[in-house]
Amino acid sequence: MKILVTGGAGFIGSHLCRLLLQQGHDVLVLDDLSTGSYDNIDGLEDTGHLSLIVDSVNSRDIVDACVRQSDQVYHLASAVGVRLIIDQPVRTIESIVGGTETVLKACARYRRPFLLTSTSEVYGKGSRVPFHEDDDSVMGATSTRRWSYACAKAMDEFLALAYWVEARLPVVCCRLFNTVGPRQTGQYGMVVPRFVRQALAGEPVTVYGDGTQTRCFTHVSDVVGALTALMNCKAARGRVVNIGNDQEISILELARRVIAATGSSSEIVRIPYDQAYGDGFEDMIRRVPALERAHDLIGYVPTRSLDDILADIIAWETRGK
Ligand code: UDP
Repeated sequence: MKILVTGGAGFIGSHLCRLLLQQGHDVLVLDDLSTGSYDNIDGLEDTGHLSLIVDSVNSRDIVDACVRQSDQVYHLASAVGVRLIIDQPVRTIESIVGGTETVLKACARYRRPFLLTSTSEVYGKGSRVPFHEDDDSVMGATSTRRWSYACAKAMDEFLALAYWVEARLPVVCCRLFNTVGPRQTGQYGMVVPRFVRQALAGEPVTVYGDGTQTRCFTHVSDVVGALTALMNCKAARGRVVNIGNDQEISILELARRVIAATGSSSEIVRIPYDQAYGDGFEDMIRRVPALERAHDLIGYVPTRSLDDILADIIAWETRGK
């Protein structure tokens, strides 16, 4: 098949492109290289099976042409990372809501199966973990910019599901929980690459808040495998599905693990949230996925533990050194 991956030069997108190429498909990447980077897909054009169009998912004519020539559409293009969302709220909202609307319209026009990468942020401040796909979203105030990301992604899900209901367009919405792995940049605030780089450089490891907030980290290879399985799973059409890992860890414990795994002499420093993010920020205290639906649909079980994940990222960050 010929498969369109919007955001294919991003961290997750580039891993997805590699998997699709391995599966024998031709891949068309639409990416404006804003938070993605050419380096992520460097060498893939040489295979003769991947081509890149550098443009935005808000360019209607380009999107139309890309969707028309593709058999399936993975829509990953999105503003990404809490840092960017706090600093550039207009860009966040417009790119997420506008871009998805444009891509979905074209998919509906040519009846191309559509997969949305959504986010565990959609659960908002929900405190009853693990989070099940049909649980309520508990959003914060609109004056707290962080929640604009969750609301924009929730609107994308509503729109995708609406196309399923009204036109039986095959869609699936995948809520990703803290995906990490090689090639992820810490530039937009992501904690694991930041901690690994800080520890390797012997710099202080910066824990925001008191460090008791928890996350569950998923290796990107588990994620992209699940994405391709869900795209091709008829029973997943019109559904929302969590993809993650249910091994929960506090951020303070993560800092300790990273320091131990790198053999670093770095200290841990605690930084108040307002110093880290300015105003407009409120953290999620716990975030754990319920994985039964993914398991029932595609037999999904995360295969990489946190220790495997850290070892892989450390190997990547120290490559050639
Ligand atoms: N965090 C941290 N130090 C950093 C970056 C992030 O303590 O240098 C915290 C952040 O406040 C959050 C958690 O790590 O509690 C995960 O942050 P990330 O931005 O990776 O993802 P999120 O789950 O917030 O989208």
